[in-house]
Amino acid sequence: MNGTVVVLLGPPGSGKGTQAQRLVEVLGTPHVSSGDLFRHHLSEDTDLGQLAKSYMEKGELVPDDVTVKMVMERISRPDCEEGVILDGFPRTLTQAEALKGALSGRGQEVTVVPLIRVGDEEVVRRLTARRVCKECGAVYNLAFNPPEEEGECDVCGGDLYQREDDNPETVQHRLYTYYKETSPLIGYYFAQDRLVEVDGEQPVEQVSEELLEAIHEAKRAS
Ligand code: ADP
Ligand code: ADP
Ligand code: ZN
Repeated sequence: MNGTVVVLLGPPGSGKGTQAQRLVEVLGTPHVSSGDLFRHHLSEDTDLGQLAKSYMEKGELVPDDVTVKMVMERISRPDCEEGVILDGFPRTLTQAEALKGALSGRGQEVTVVPLIRVGDEEVVRRLTARRVCKECGAVYNLAFNPPEEEGECDVCGGDLYQREDDNPETVQHRLYTYYKETSPLIGYYFAQDRLVEVDGEQPVEQVSEELLEAIHEAKRAS
């Protein structure tokens, strides 16, 4: 098998984006976030952005066909040949099957699926205090990981903003969507012997360490 394909699974706010950005530094493979791709389309006001907007505002999933098409186009680029860290995709069984098909077409498979476990109350606490850099996408938290200067990114000095869907009502609905549509993937990847559970309520560094351990272990076994 060539390439390491990591699928980060977990509820909204479990730290997928935070951890993916850290894993990039160590693994050297790109971080592909379906949420970031959609937000890019939104900011560019493309047809796909206009389609995705109403779903994202409500905290519902964008339909599988357009989501799969968008992510497949991204991971078929040369920089993903040696592997990829997927964050927020797949989110349905249909998406998981599409990913499997696309990878097998190029002699790859999903290497490991860390499930980052975080309780519902912690999710709400984290997401309502989340701030994101407009320029580079760095993720902050007003309570746990505030920027040095208020409203300003430590990395690039860009402005920080709050995502429109990080309000308490939409967060509740995103959690509901996660349990209904995404949690079946836990059984799906468990049955394929790819699932590794990680306690996501530990400090960021500790979670990273356990993720790296799980990834290295899975690479050895593959
Ligand atoms: P979070 O990181 O907080 O879980 P994301 O940035 O991953 O949120 O996703 C934001 C929104 O983008 C989702 O609520 C959904 O509307 C849409 N979205 C992202 N990824 C997918 C996907 N794989 N399938 C369908 N919709 C998605
Ligand atoms: P996701 O991509 O799964 O939605 P994020 O990585 O955006 O999650 O993290 C959600 C929020 O929680 C952010 O404000 C982030 O700074 C914060 N966060 C991430 N990991 C931890 C952690 N281990 N402990 C406390 N806060 C965290
Ligand atoms: Zn920045």
